[in-house]
Amino acid sequence: MSLIVQKFGGTSVKDAERIFHVAGIIADTYRAGNDVIVVLSAQGDTTDDLVAKAQEIDPHASRREMDMLLSTGEQISVALCAMALRKMGLPVISLNAWQVGIQTTSVHSNARIKRIDSERVRAELDQHRIVLVTGFQGVNKNGDITTLGRGGSDTSAVALAAAFHADLCQIFTDVDGVYTCDPRLVPNARKLEEITYNEMLELASQGAQVLHNRSVELAKKFHVNLEVLSSYERKPGTKVKEVTKKVEKTNITGVAKDTSIARIALVGLQHNPGVAFQVFNLLSKANISVDVILQSIGREDTKDISFTVAKKDLEDAQKILLENKEAIHFDHLTVDDKIGKVSIVGAGVMAETGVAAKMFEALYEAGVNIQMINTSEIRVSVLIDEADVNKAVRAIHAKFFDEE
Ligand code: ASP
Ligand code: MG
Repeated sequence: MSLIVQKFGGTSVKDAERIFHVAGIIADTYRAGNDVIVVLSAQGDTTDDLVAKAQEIDPHASRREMDMLLSTGEQISVALCAMALRKMGLPVISLNAWQVGIQTTSVHSNARIKRIDSERVRAELDQHRIVLVTGFQGVNKNGDITTLGRGGSDTSAVALAAAFHADLCQIFTDVDGVYTCDPRLVPNARKLEEITYNEMLELASQGAQVLHNRSVELAKKFHVNLEVLSSYERKPGTKVKEVTKKVEKTNITGVAKDTSIARIALVGLQHNPGVAFQVFNLLSKANISVDVILQSIGREDTKDISFTVAKKDLEDAQKILLENKEAIHFDHLTVDDKIGKVSIVGAGVMAETGVAAKMFEALYEAGVNIQMINTSEIRVSVLIDEADVNKAVRAIHAKFFDEE
């Protein structure tokens, strides 16, 4: 007997028919003799609809109240799915994350899981019940409901799999695995049989929307056996693991894009030591993460620093920097929210010569201008005009995968 954690995304539980379908998958897993913990997302567009409702009241509503509101979507899903399973004659119980004891930090709307109490779920599993848990949320030390950030249900599932030493964590979604690129953008994108944690991590954090990136971080840290598969068709998906056997000849695993970023440039900074520390320390204290950073070669006695932040953090970042203009000593600040980032990811990207050049060649041939470049050991990212992003992805994908 194994313990399996299964997570189903919003589209997979969007209406009664889909819920019964999902219940069928869960029932089969249970009847095969496994213990099953299920994590569900809110149905269809529920979370977006709740965000819209809040906006009608106050676009600047407090993050605590937003969490209180958004966490309700998942509660609907687990209750309905439990009803479906019960109707099919299966023993089941739905639980809120706070009932399960998913303890998180206090940062509302972007909390991190610290630990999971095991008693309640253990007790339910001992009673041979299927346990359904609300994804995307937890409870902080004050007993308040927190959420893990949009798409956070994947992270809930992996955290539960790690906490209960599950044999397998299956992430069911509306695509049947991880592709070399978004198949809606590039129809001949290929499904990967397997991918390493590191590659998946880079792809997820560079905008590939298959998995929440923190879920991959957790899976890597706790060696969770992860699989991404379709809730529509019963066929093998993509396995995410430590090492993979290289089946592809291409030296990249995938191409990702991200248009949810904006660039800030601080112009006319003094040449003193500690300036970068000051800037990024202020932002990090406000929980704003910074991505691609570029510091110019100085002119006479000043220099510029540009960097990207998530669009949703742009307003806050700007405000903090302007409030500290005197202390940081810069001349002025410019922002550009019409930019996008395109990345190639693969275990050998920086190790093998010519891979980055091939990417730049594809961009050159497509007439795309590169504004900033940023690399890791297994990734190259370029910052370009938002309007060029789709064209760039297609050109790069074709360069690496069509010319074999
Ligand atoms: N329902 C949440 C969202 O839409 C969490 C999730 O789907 O993972 O972001
Ligand atoms: Mg998702």
